[in-house]
Amino acid sequence: MKLLTPGPVTTHPDVRAAMAVDLAPWDNDVCPLYASMVARLLALGGGAEATHAALPLQGSGHFGLEAALRGVLRPGERILIPMTGAYAERMARLARAAGREPVALPASATRPIDPDTVRQALADPTIAMVGLVQSETSSGVVNDLAAIGAVARAAGRRLLVDAVSAFGALPLDVSAQPEIAAAVFTPNKCLEGMPGIAVVLTRRDALPAPGEAGSWCFDLADILEHGEKRGWATFRFTPPVQSVNALAVALDRLDAEGREARLARYTDNAAALRTGMQAIGLRPVLEARHQGPIVSNITAPADPAWDLQRFVDALKKRGYLISNFYDTEVPSFRVGTIGALDRTDFEGFSSAAGEALAEMGIGRRSAA
Ligand SMILES: *Cc1c(COP(=O)(O)O)cnc(C)c1O
Repeated sequence: MKLLTPGPVTTHPDVRAAMAVDLAPWDNDVCPLYASMVARLLALGGGAEATHAALPLQGSGHFGLEAALRGVLRPGERILIPMTGAYAERMARLARAAGREPVALPASATRPIDPDTVRQALADPTIAMVGLVQSETSSGVVNDLAAIGAVARAAGRRLLVDAVSAFGALPLDVSAQPEIAAAVFTPNKCLEGMPGIAVVLTRRDALPAPGEAGSWCFDLADILEHGEKRGWATFRFTPPVQSVNALAVALDRLDAEGREARLARYTDNAAALRTGMQAIGLRPVLEARHQGPIVSNITAPADPAWDLQRFVDALKKRGYLISNFYDTEVPSFRVGTIGALDRTDFEGFSSAAGEALAEMGIGRRSAA
């Protein structure tokens, strides 16, 4: 089965094989994996050990975002969040629940944020930070991290980046962008690894002393202190050790491919998908120039026989799994173009989608 989803993604058999072993988290043969993981992820994000740390914690991407919000913002501090879609809303919800104050900046769901709107909003001196979703997974739009970072930096503000669906393919260089207080990612999207860990790549000077996060589990400063005092070869609590093992293999594969080549492959996947969908009469939600390489939304056929779950089931029978929900204003289906897949998979998917529509008796395709 191929997962055409924006994470967890289709993985290479070697990555999967690394999950199928019993490992003791404290075994001396296993512990070096943790230290090597944080060093490699720090380097991949452009961090230098003197100024930055890659802090791993158990859980999914949201766990990392909560830890980042509790780490780089003090209680009551205000964070400006451009409302790009579902993941921006989630960041706002996590901030509010953690007692930090989100300030919503209206934004389009079909094109990238205009950095100028961020610049204008930062005229408000009560705003401490900007929270940016680099690749908004609900819409498929990629925001210009360098341009928005430059605006924040000019205004003397820092940035919290949700890089969960971007890291490993889209560029991130925290040394070139010192305004980035923290960037959050997981292994199971563009790194093509397995779920179970979240990583916060953070500036050391952005964190308070341990104990100020309002949570022990989510206290980044405590994770940093633990790593420093006990060594990076240990976790505070039981780590998802198989997932760490799989990430080591996934990182080897990323090193062999190269980040830019990976981005080029995903971009080609998205182009093959677009062509294939248009060939069967379906219209992508976004204009081509605003379509990012991570996930594409395709407008649902304007036919009364359309039923997303039936379509998903018909595709699944043919070996392709897509999400059975959509996040756009108009009815659509979404296709992730990341993971261990290439354009032949998206050509195959497009034929399967044509067959699935025929099986469902759908003649009328996307509205013009
Ligand atoms: C996947 C994703 C997350 C995290 O989701 P989890 O299910 O918690 O791993 C956060 N932000 C974006 C943009 C994502 O794509």
